[in-house]
Amino acid sequence: MIRTWPEDWESRKQGAGCPFCTDLTSRSFHSGRISEALLERYAIATGHAAVVFRRRHVSTFTALAPDELADYWLDIQDVGRAIERVFKPCHVNYQLLGNIVPHLHVHVVPRYLDDSAPERPLPWNPSLVSEEDFVSRARELRDAMTSGTRGR
Ligand SMILES: [Zn+2]
Repeated sequence: MIRTWPEDWESRKQGAGCPFCTDLTSRSFHSGRISEALLERYAIATGHAAVVFRRRHVSTFTALAPDELADYWLDIQDVGRAIERVFKPCHVNYQLLGNIVPHLHVHVVPRYLDDSAPERPLPWNPSLVSEEDFVSRARELRDAMTSGTRGR
């Protein structure tokens, strides 16, 4: 076998140098039950967000206890609803990847009627969101989160 994954992959999965363990606040637009919702600065779609499990470092959802799993998906659902309200996508993809940062997070990717890959996942070609757009989108999402996503 010729190894293709990085030599430090196993230690990164254990949390070594994990960026989500050191900074979850700079891009956050919402603190959920058990997660932090981040707006992506390098986005593959308008409104691309990530919901990061914040209780501790885990690399996979299979490590969660049942109550943690329920709270986590409820948090993801809240973020999905806010994204639906703010950006009016035609569909939303929920992508649990962790191939670069192996700390449990789910990408919430709005899909639009004019995007480049109808009926397929979007290619992972992120582009830097301008500071102006980043700030206004984060504000809209923050407002949408506080205007009542829970209890629907
Ligand atoms: Zn971590």
